[in-house]
Amino acid sequence: MTTRIVLLGAPGSGKGTQSQRLVTRFGIPQISTGDLLRSAVARGTPLGLVAGEVMKAGKLVDDSIMLGVIRERLAEPDAAKGFILDGFPRNLVQAAALEQLLAQIGQPLTRVVLMEVDYAELTRRIAGRRSCPKCGSVFNIHSMPAGSEQRCDKCVDRPELFQRPDDTEATVARRLQVFEEQTRPLVGFYQARRLLRSINAQGNVDAITALLVAALKPAPKAKKKVAKKKVAKKTAKKVVKKAAKSASRTVAVKVSKQAAKKAAVVTVKTTKRKSVKKTAKKAAKKAAKKTVAKKAAKKVAKKAAKKVAKKAAKKAAKKAPAKAK
Ligand code: AMP
Repeated sequence: MTTRIVLLGAPGSGKGTQSQRLVTRFGIPQISTGDLLRSAVARGTPLGLVAGEVMKAGKLVDDSIMLGVIRERLAEPDAAKGFILDGFPRNLVQAAALEQLLAQIGQPLTRVVLMEVDYAELTRRIAGRRSCPKCGSVFNIHSMPAGSEQRCDKCVDRPELFQRPDDTEATVARRLQVFEEQTRPLVGFYQARRLLRSINAQGNVDAITALLVAALKPAPKAKKKVAKKKVAKKTAKKVVKKAAKSASRTVAVKVSKQAAKKAAVVTVKTTKRKSVKKTAKKAAKKAAKKTVAKKAAKKVAKKAAKKVAKKAAKKAAKKAPAKAK
């Protein structure tokens, strides 16, 4: 897989040191615009003459010049297999131009890593930074064995190390300010493109390399899918459990409703039966009363009829002897 990365970070965050380690690891070139400019200054080229003063002041070299430099460098054959950009882009104009350039050649960035170091550590590192005038290797007096000479141990003739003219205290403050104002906005630019990862670039150099290498790895898509599936399964299980619970509750409610209905029906039936019985009883009572009344009436009527008949017989008996006379 091709690695095309940008290392973002304030001066002194260790971009140079870590880039050199990635060169060995991935076999791709480090493209440091600072190194390219310093080389131009040292050779006294037209670019060097323009850039030298700007660099000493801790400011940024003109964008159009820098874009020319980077376009030329990316066109070199070794960059075709990938690259590590160190110190470029430095502002939004450069970032947008780089994006366009890489899109044109069909080689977009694969990752941007922000190396975070606090302000106090940055100034301490920059103040202690020394470079080899011959091979360009960067050293730090704070990490050198105590009492050792400030010489390059990578070159055979061990040239004396020097401090970069822009590593002086006054220039460092300006460079850090330029970083905050112009380069920091790139964090949002690359975040929006889902390219950015941040690492804590303070502490042991090997540990930082390990963090950096891990940050360069592509997002584990397959693992993510599996993880997503697991989450989906868990969620599904929960949903099913919930549904089952609420279903059982519904069933219980239904059952209890049905039971209530049945009970109500039974009650109604019983009540009905009871009321029917009552009505029947009442009717029977009424009927009984009627019968009694009828009987009584009959009796009364009989008695009355007897009385009337007796009276009539008496009257007739009284009348009969008179006629016989
Ligand atoms: P560096 O070695 O990356 O800290 O760069 C040293 C100096 O080179 C900076 O302070 C700038 O003056 C100049 N420089 C390096 N890269 C750029 C860039 N991409 N744009 C403008 N100026 C740059």
